Amino acid sequence: MNIENQYGESVIPKAEWDSPMFNLAQQQFLGAAKLLGIDDNIRKRLLFPQRTQIASFPCRKDKYSEVETVFGYRVQHTLTMGPTKGGIRYHEDVNLGEVSALAMWMTWKCALMHLPFGGAKGGVRIDPKQMSRSELQRLTRRYTIEFVNMIGPDKDIPAPDMGTNAQVMAWIMDTYSQQVGHSVPQVVTGKPVVLGGSQGREQATGRGLVYLIKDAAFHIGIDLKNATAVIQGYGNVGKNTALFLEQAGVKVIAISDVSCGLYNESGLALSAIDDHLQENSTLQGYAGADQISNNELLELECDILAPCALQNQITSQNAPYLKCKMLAEGANGPTSLAADKILWERKIFVLPDILGNAGGVTASYFEWVQNTQEYAWSLEEVNSRLHKIMVEAFQRTLIRSQRDNVDMRTAALMEGISRVAEAKLLRGVFP
Ligand code: GLU
Repeated sequence: MNIENQYGESVIPKAEWDSPMFNLAQQQFLGAAKLLGIDDNIRKRLLFPQRTQIASFPCRKDKYSEVETVFGYRVQHTLTMGPTKGGIRYHEDVNLGEVSALAMWMTWKCALMHLPFGGAKGGVRIDPKQMSRSELQRLTRRYTIEFVNMIGPDKDIPAPDMGTNAQVMAWIMDTYSQQVGHSVPQVVTGKPVVLGGSQGREQATGRGLVYLIKDAAFHIGIDLKNATAVIQGYGNVGKNTALFLEQAGVKVIAISDVSCGLYNESGLALSAIDDHLQENSTLQGYAGADQISNNELLELECDILAPCALQNQITSQNAPYLKCKMLAEGANGPTSLAADKILWERKIFVLPDILGNAGGVTASYFEWVQNTQEYAWSLEEVNSRLHKIMVEAFQRTLIRSQRDNVDMRTAALMEGISRVAEAKLLRGVFP
């Protein structure tokens, strides 16, 4: 299999997981691997997921006579580094290509953070907002059974991602435990604390991103006490990022969810917005701000722009018009290859996704370690260890970026990829 033509351009053979998002992940990988001069055999091995499973299965609706057929996925990108790790996403657009891209990014993310995991991801193509709690429970339990041979505390450990949460993890843990005949808390992370979840796991992605923003702000000379932030997406990551930024003295001037964007140049009242969300479950209709579109939100003048929603948000269309000094990625894959080039030329400092949102999987690692040791850490211990791992990874990435004169995404990828490539060489090929 050749992945380059005579001009050195990549010509990747089409495979089942081929899709725009997986293509982005592959191109990012190939760019960084080329700069690293990675062994060609290893380059080809890492370009594709190691194991994938697709299942179609039934989900009984609350109206007993209705049964929906749904599609579920689990992809394990690399098994070299230890068990695989990564979230499960419930979203109406989930497909094999998306899950494969997310699994590959998990590999580089775990390696960049020096966590002993390979990357994985799972997903179900449904809209969780259209489902009742009991439907979600049945769906989750059936998904777990369909993939029961793939997951396990020493094999592959799921966690929450978009559209899933601690309750979903509790159902997975319960279903898995029923199968093996005893409780196995460490089969998932991001569980409720009473079931062995870690203190601080739920806030960890946002908290970790804000630890990085503080260091990045110092590096590029932004005074957070006089800074403004715009946050796209108000799920777990966006909400906690907003909260911790506010605590750091940053004025959060705009946020958004699927329903709309909210903008107030003197700063949004986050606690009043929380009250509104309690009653309405979307941002739509909140009176204390102007309503703006997603495009307007991304192009607002601000110091920090944090995309914390879906992939493919910063593209060649809007990258020339961003008016932020720092792009802090809480989402996975929010920025296209063409946009990356523009941001680099425009000297916008990027905290790339595999670093920016790595607080989540880092706290997941802590949860797994605590479960394995059957010993629970305090919130202070979790947060101080999280801080240390985040800032060390930031330093490694920054040093690599300065030394090799590459953007922060390429630097983060190079840090992660070089580690996995070294491990692969050391393990060798069987037989
Ligand atoms: N879904 C999260 C991510 O994309 C967390 C994964 C985990 O905690 O295993 O990083």
